[in-house]
Amino acid sequence: MSTPAAPSPVRPAFLGGSKQLFIGGRWVAAAAGEEFDTVDPASGQVIARLARGAAADVDRAVVAARAAFEGPWSRWTPLERQRLLLRIDELMLKHAEELASIETTDMGAPITRTRNTVKWISQAIRFFASCTGAATTTTASNSLPGNVMTLNHKAPLGVVGGIIPWNGPMGGQWWTIGPALATGCTCVIKPAEDASLSILRFADILAEAGVPDGVVNIVTGYGSEAGAALAAHPGVDKISFTGSTETGRRIVQASAGNLKRLQLELGGKSPDIVFADADLDAAVPGAAMGVFANSGQICYSGTRLFVQRSVQKEFVERLQRFSAGLKVGKGLDPGVDLGPLISSRQLDRVMHYVKLGGEQGARLAAGGRRLGGELAGGYFVEPTVFAGVDQRMTIAREEIFGPVISVIPFDTVDEVLKMANDTEYGLGGGVWTRHLATAHQVSQGIRAGVVWVNCYGAVDPAVGFGGCKMSGYGWKGGLEHVESFLYRKAVYMNIAG
Ligand code: NAD
Repeated sequence: MSTPAAPSPVRPAFLGGSKQLFIGGRWVAAAAGEEFDTVDPASGQVIARLARGAAADVDRAVVAARAAFEGPWSRWTPLERQRLLLRIDELMLKHAEELASIETTDMGAPITRTRNTVKWISQAIRFFASCTGAATTTTASNSLPGNVMTLNHKAPLGVVGGIIPWNGPMGGQWWTIGPALATGCTCVIKPAEDASLSILRFADILAEAGVPDGVVNIVTGYGSEAGAALAAHPGVDKISFTGSTETGRRIVQASAGNLKRLQLELGGKSPDIVFADADLDAAVPGAAMGVFANSGQICYSGTRLFVQRSVQKEFVERLQRFSAGLKVGKGLDPGVDLGPLISSRQLDRVMHYVKLGGEQGARLAAGGRRLGGELAGGYFVEPTVFAGVDQRMTIAREEIFGPVISVIPFDTVDEVLKMANDTEYGLGGGVWTRHLATAHQVSQGIRAGVVWVNCYGAVDPAVGFGGCKMSGYGWKGGLEHVESFLYRKAVYMNIAG
């Protein structure tokens, strides 16, 4: 039985024109009336103009979010919030194809990937819908004299700011909106300046599903303006941030004013380790796509690919063949495996590292060029493999955020663990082996928030992930994530007499 062909994506009608800010349930212009262009990275063409929100707009959004937090929304029951989340899911799935097409046009990822993102969001929404009872009240036993009853409450924290990166904005916003709606918090979302459109389109879906005015607000704009204002705002109780380590550090400083809580998911330079005994038929595509997926623009990409020396030659040859078979192209075109990079700035950054790799003595085994011809208007780079990389080279130390693999040879478990952990980051890691003992030893030994064994990159919203070291702190996903949108309160109730 043949499976029905996926529909051909169409250019969504939502693109074009000027987009406003979404504050208090209404579309409004930025207070200063300014706008900026947003571009399709596959063509370099302007696809819409975005409102340039700044401090005054963030302030309006925080005031709206606070009013909503203290208004009728605070009396919604867990069952009502659960029904709301499930209505959003239903409505989103009706608009799945449109949302995937907007995301692909706005940030470049192949349509197959953004269609999967919609499915992942559906899973995430249903998970958060299952957590609406997280704000529990329990009784605690005590040793106080008299007749004192003690209660432990968990209550919604308040207004949460979500600062979103461009590498997966439509899914990324759900790490803030999901737990906010589950717990009764409200939020202000600041999308990345390079990719805001899917988040803006989502606002109408949220409103249609019945999210009360002010519960979710969206302020587009630059990081140094709208982002910085949100991070510093005294009316914000928590910031959930994903992006670069450098910006993460600025957010920590900005949070000091009112000591707001933080959840930070920052950069990475993750090790992916292939042992000679691994099933290479699975390890080659698995490790390759652990970097090339989303054109390498994923924080936990396994860009430091350690391969045991006895299979290194064969592995690199197979990687070359696999890379040569990948189709790079415009995300809306059928059969594309890798779309463009997000911007000309990111293209320059990646090409700078490719040049540096060669200069520092790594051997270019595949790719390494910007693509021209009919792709010349966009920001396309071939899937790139460097072999014979030394762990001390810049390409093996700094986050490139592009489709670039550094293959580093190793001999023993101890040696590879030492190299794997010789990084300031601690986000992801992988191990490919048929030996259970090796799988255990290496997954325990890698210092990172998430480790995949004989697979790479899966993230389940109910399990979640996070980082250690300079990859940040605070868990995303699972009940722990939802509970980070609550604060605890003990009540001592003298019930004598
Ligand atoms: P960034 O950290 O500057 O941007 C991420 C988000 O933070 C955006 O919404 C941006 O507007 C906002 N922002 C920027 N400056 C801010 C500030 N001072 N205060 C508050 N918010 C601010 O990332 P970028 O410039 O888009 O990309 C730079 C590099 O960061 C990339 O090349 C990549 O290495 C890394 N990056 C990592 C991730 C990740 O998921 N770990 C995501 C995006 C980028």
